[in-house]
Amino acid sequence: MTTPDFPYPRKRFGQNFLIDQNIVKKILHRAALRPEEMVLEIGPGRGALTRGLCQAAARVLAIEIDRELYAYLQEELGTSVNLELQLGDALAYPFYELPPGTVVVANLPYNISTPLLFKLFESRTSIDRMILMVQLEVAQRLVGKTGTRDYGVLSVLAQYFADIDLAFKVSRTCFRPRPDVASAIIEIRLKSNDVIDRPEDIEHFVHVVKAAFGHRRKTLLNSMRDAGFDSQVLESAFECTEIAGSRRAETLTVQDFSRLARMLFPH
Ligand code: SAM
Repeated sequence: MTTPDFPYPRKRFGQNFLIDQNIVKKILHRAALRPEEMVLEIGPGRGALTRGLCQAAARVLAIEIDRELYAYLQEELGTSVNLELQLGDALAYPFYELPPGTVVVANLPYNISTPLLFKLFESRTSIDRMILMVQLEVAQRLVGKTGTRDYGVLSVLAQYFADIDLAFKVSRTCFRPRPDVASAIIEIRLKSNDVIDRPEDIEHFVHVVKAAFGHRRKTLLNSMRDAGFDSQVLESAFECTEIAGSRRAETLTVQDFSRLARMLFPH
């Protein structure tokens, strides 16, 4: 048997390739793709997941930034008729143009996983669910419950847009080269538009959450005042929402933040 001549892994593109077939199977099982579904894969790499995705779904769009990997994949998987390979930066891709119901399955490049997640949340009307590999620490923050150490800006914003489960952990040994940190598979189910505010309300929500968590050790009142909110306006919003300004941000639920934002930025 000859060893395939893989392009050399590039750290700057977050290339840690999945080499454990059991994990590949578990990801595909969790994705539970139906034959009529469309899949978006970000960073197909050497195609560890791509082959299985093409077998399970109607169409797969795979976006890879690395020219050499793109050429390699064209050679290896070019015969899959339902695969569309694109060379490019996923951060610049118009995800909102994807057909509604698209399923995203990816082992994300860790260096850009958070901005990619938010870009995907912005395109939620096109996306049904996402099965993603991320750093374990990011996964724990994404599912972080109110009042815990992991609960912060990322948890509140992500849980505002989606219901998120940590599906299973993945050891460093399942990749080559081995990453420095453990990983996890998360399943994200996007909330429908009618439970989410209008775009300008979302902006206000994000602003309030970031201000509240600005100084983790300070009270809500102090943290938000430091971020530029007027004390009197804050006091009155706290009174109307029955959220005490002496509380700390990590004790507020996603709904509390939403109520507070509406009170501070009425229509
Ligand atoms: N899916 C493969 C696997 O599981 O073995 C590779 C996963 S590797 C963690 C991340 C992949 O994303 C690499 O192939 C990398 O070149 C690609 N990538 C990095 N940044 C990207 C970007 N901005 N747009 C598209 N692909 C990107």
